[in-house]
Amino acid sequence: HFITFEGGEGSGKSTHAATLAAQLKARGVEVVLTREPGGSPGAEVIRHIILSGIAKPLGAETEAILFAAARDDHVKSTIRPALEAGKWVICDRFIDSTRVYQGVLGKVDAKLIRGLERVTVGGCFPELTFMLDVPAPVGLARAKTRRGNAGADRFEAESVEFHEHLRSAYRALADREPKRIIVIDGRAPREVVAERIWTTVQQRFGA
Ligand code: C5P
Repeated sequence: HFITFEGGEGSGKSTHAATLAAQLKARGVEVVLTREPGGSPGAEVIRHIILSGIAKPLGAETEAILFAAARDDHVKSTIRPALEAGKWVICDRFIDSTRVYQGVLGKVDAKLIRGLERVTVGGCFPELTFMLDVPAPVGLARAKTRRGNAGADRFEAESVEFHEHLRSAYRALADREPKRIIVIDGRAPREVVAERIWTTVQQRFGA
């Protein structure tokens, strides 16, 4: 199975992706925990190009194409082989990040986003996506306390309005695909969020 985690900065994606992976492993499930941008040697190099600032400024379309190149390598090198081997793949960010960050916020043409998605994802479309939803000030405050996460938090300096826009873009995606994208209130205590995720996975896949 292929499960992704999405949400704005500081929403708890990485924590809950890792928690779910650990819970599955404890039950003997073979799991590959991965992330985007990155997740394969080639994609990690592209992540560095985009996030380190060594190639600034990059236009929104250039970034979208670079993220797509990273995804293409990640799918081919990491995700598809794992799924074909019968493993579960849990990915911290995937296509919905591109739809929101490059598509909505970066205003990249929706046709380009869809075309890149078709080429890169192929048949590896996530079956279940958790969208961790937190109000912008909460996410921003959390993101600020975990600095040092290489290349992350590039939007930390943006306004609360920017982060609210990000949040509403994610919620709009969830409204369009309510079966795949499950919105979880990320303000709840960590154990409560983890329990909701686990219950959903069990209902969906009988893990
Ligand atoms: O999830 P993580 O914090 O590692 O993401 C690194 C940075 O890249 C974040 O600031 C995120 O907002 C940004 N990003 C982006 N477009 C994507 C995926 C991530 O701008 N498609």
